[in-house]
Amino acid sequence: MSEKDRIDDRTEKEAVKPADDKQDEYEEVCYICHRPESKAGKMIHIPNNICICPDCMQRTFDSMNQMGGFPGMEGFPMFPGMAPVSKESKSQSSDDEKQETAKEQAGSGLNLGELLSSGKIPNISLVNMADLQGMMGNQQRVKKKKPKDQKNEEPVLDIKKIPAPHKIKASLDDYVVGQQYAKKVMSVAVYNHYKRVASGYQDGIEIEKSNMLMVGPTGSGKTYLVKTLARLLDVPLAIADATSLTEAGYIGDDIESVLSKLLAAADNDVEKAERGIVYIDEIDKLAKKKNANQRDVSGESVQQGMLKLLEGAEVEVPVGASSKNAMVPMTTIDTTNILFICGGAFPGLEEIIKERLNKHSSMGFMADLKDKYDDDENILMKVTTEDIRKFGMIPEFIGRLPILFSLEALSEEMLVQILKEPKNAIIKQYKKLLELDEVQLEFDDDALCAIAKKAKEKNVGARALRSIIEEFMLDIMYEIPKDDNIGKVLITKNYIENTGGPVITMRGCPELEMKENPAES
Ligand code: ADP
Repeated sequence: MSEKDRIDDRTEKEAVKPADDKQDEYEEVCYICHRPESKAGKMIHIPNNICICPDCMQRTFDSMNQMGGFPGMEGFPMFPGMAPVSKESKSQSSDDEKQETAKEQAGSGLNLGELLSSGKIPNISLVNMADLQGMMGNQQRVKKKKPKDQKNEEPVLDIKKIPAPHKIKASLDDYVVGQQYAKKVMSVAVYNHYKRVASGYQDGIEIEKSNMLMVGPTGSGKTYLVKTLARLLDVPLAIADATSLTEAGYIGDDIESVLSKLLAAADNDVEKAERGIVYIDEIDKLAKKKNANQRDVSGESVQQGMLKLLEGAEVEVPVGASSKNAMVPMTTIDTTNILFICGGAFPGLEEIIKERLNKHSSMGFMADLKDKYDDDENILMKVTTEDIRKFGMIPEFIGRLPILFSLEALSEEMLVQILKEPKNAIIKQYKKLLELDEVQLEFDDDALCAIAKKAKEKNVGARALRSIIEEFMLDIMYEIPKDDNIGKVLITKNYIENTGGPVITMRGCPELEMKENPAES
């Protein structure tokens, strides 16, 4: 062996070794049903680097047998027991084909793979023969899923480790602007809840569950508060939408599906899921229908069905599906320690509250003006369980959500704060994006106020902020990377109000060099 050959041989071996290591991370998938080896079982390899799972292989054989065989396949070694095809049934036109097949049989090594690629098996016409020819081994492999981490033996909810309410609130403050009352109520409720979970049933005193009912206009941060809370506490969170829930047996998601989601969020770890948080949004859509004379499968019945979950019960839950059926595996989840938070905008609740307040104050010499509360944007803060009952929630349901509180409507100042203050504020996100291009991004205070004003007009709370900013940033994000000389972009009020452009400063320029945005000019 020459020196060159030896070197080549060595490099080849070296090249193969890491690839072997990598191979362990991959598994083969069936060419027909695309299931990986871990699910479908050991693959059967046929030429052209094709692998087929035993099920698909069996199905192929079965369907072939049903067909009663194919011309030219008699006595074929791979298909023992195949019914011979009667001579009469063979048409004259297949004679040529027969001769060809006989020739092939005479040759050595004819097998299913070759048959597949020759396209002679009618039932496998689904398989694109052209694809089979060019198929590389790697195309039929997927990366193996990583094994799940071993369970942490330490109890997650050690009573000493549960942060005190003021600490929970302080952490929430980093992300959620305003909503001081809501944050305070939630911090105390969560603290009590997890204290209750950790203490169990000591001294025979059972602390009641602190499920919550949140009322607040759309985009005021209900979902955001819950999400932030779950992240800070590092507990699994399931967010469900009450509108999709129906009574069991009807089209829609079963009530237990919220627990399936929680289980999925807890990586199918039942113990972890049993300490999680379930947030049910749009709960107001479950209100009793007024003058309904049909069976109300998605409203009151769902409230009834949820009572059991809210209170704490052992519930049979489908794993990985939203409704029970014979094919879905089931597991049991105890909901005693799951914290349920329900939220909704409750449109029309203001009128109910106003009516109640006016009734109280419209008699006697001290009577208030009838329209006293008409301009009160935060009338929802005065909500009571009685108002919620009037709205259409059943008393048993309200009784199981003992903590009732409201979120304020976001004012323009709060919207400005939301733009710039939270840890992951939208503006900070854009600044970071441009920083990666080494461009500074600044927003004028006036510009922020103009954005907040526009958002407020849309009446969808903080939700409007993102869409407005995205609209204005589109041109900037498109144009800036074109020119490497741009060092700084200042977004002005004029730009937001469409009366001017952003102020662009060039890199290395000691003084501000004004230039209109190329997109604008
Ligand atoms: P809803 O009350 O309708 O559930 P969300 O919680 O989904 O509203 O709020 C929509 C988005 O608005 C959130 O993702 C969040 O970024 C932002 N947001 C809303 N309220 C606040 C707030 N008080 N502080 C910070 N961001 C907020």
